[in-house]
Amino acid sequence: MELSARIVTLQLAETFTIARESQDTAEVVEVELRHDGASGFGEAAPIARYGESAASALAFVEESAELLGEDPFALEEIGARLSGRTGEQAAKAALDAALHDLCGKLLGVPVWRLLGLAPAGPPTSWTLGLGDPDETARKAERARGRFRRLKLKLGGRDGLDVERVRAVRAVTDVPLQVDVNEYWTLDQALEALPQLHALGVEYCEQPLPQGDPGGAELKRRSPLPIYVDEDCHGLADVAACAERAHGVTIKLAKSGGPREAVRMVHTARALGLGVMLGCMVESGLGIAAGVHVSSLCDFVDLDGNLLLGQDPWRGVELVDGVQRASGDPGLGVARSGV
Ligand SMILES: [Mg+2]
Repeated sequence: MELSARIVTLQLAETFTIARESQDTAEVVEVELRHDGASGFGEAAPIARYGESAASALAFVEESAELLGEDPFALEEIGARLSGRTGEQAAKAALDAALHDLCGKLLGVPVWRLLGLAPAGPPTSWTLGLGDPDETARKAERARGRFRRLKLKLGGRDGLDVERVRAVRAVTDVPLQVDVNEYWTLDQALEALPQLHALGVEYCEQPLPQGDPGGAELKRRSPLPIYVDEDCHGLADVAACAERAHGVTIKLAKSGGPREAVRMVHTARALGLGVMLGCMVESGLGIAAGVHVSSLCDFVDLDGNLLLGQDPWRGVELVDGVQRASGDPGLGVARSGV
C-alpha cells in the first residue's frame, strides 16, 4: 500500500469554548492509502490533552507506512503492529479509518454494511460551548428544529453551571445532556446533579477529573447517570470505568479507530454500561468513520463537522437530527466540490 498524509486546518463557524480551552480552528491530519487502483481516506483529530498535535500525528502516520504491508484486509495484523507503538491514538484512528474506507471501496460496499451494522444511529446532540447562561440559551434557540438533543458544556467555575441548564431548559423541550470536562469536585457534583436531575438532564459527562478518587462514591450517589470520557481511552480502560460510571464516552480519536471502538462497545455492554459515541472538531471525513459504527451506541454526539464554516468533505447527511452515512462504498464521502 502507498501512503500519503498532510495537515489540514479546519475553520470553525464560531469560537468553540469548553472548560479547558477555546478554539477557532482545528488542525487535523488527512491520510490517503492507495492499493489496487483504489484510495482509502481517514482523518486524525489529535487531542492536545493527551500530548498529541497535528505534527506528532503526521510523523506517526509517516513512520507507520512500513507497518501496513500489502493486504488492506489484514486489519487485525495491521492493528496489532500499529498498537505495538505507544501513543498517537488519533493517528492510529486515521489509519484504521483509511483501511476500512479502502476495504469497502475494493468490495463495493459501505463500511457500515461491511461491519453488519446500520447506516445511522440515534439522533446526534448539538454541542453548546461554554458561555454565560443567556448566550447559551440564544444558541439553544438557534438550534431549534434542526437538532433533537442538546449537550451543554459546563465547568465554568463561576457558580452558574446550573443556571446555564435552567436558561436552556426555559427555551427548549429537547433532551439535555451536560459535559463538565473534569471541572467539578465531588462536593460540587453532589450539589449540582440533583438540580440538573430536576431539570430533566439525561446524563452528566465527566464531572470529576480523570482518576478522581471520588468516582465510585459519585456513581453510588448521583441521581442521574454518569458517563466518563477523559477516564476512558481504549479497551483496557472500560472495566475500571464500570466502578465510577454508568456509561462510557468512546471517541475514535482516543480508541485508535472504528475497529477498537466496536470492541469497546461490546466490552461496555458485557459490563452493563451505556455507550456514547463522541467526536472532536473534525471534517465530514473524520465524522463519517464514527457514523458508520454509531448504530451500536445509545447516545451519539457527532456534530464536529457541523461546527465548521465549510466542511471539506461531503457524504454524511444530517437527516431529522440524525447523522446518516451514504450508501456509497467505503466511508461514503468525497471532497466537497468534486
Ligand atoms: Mg466529553
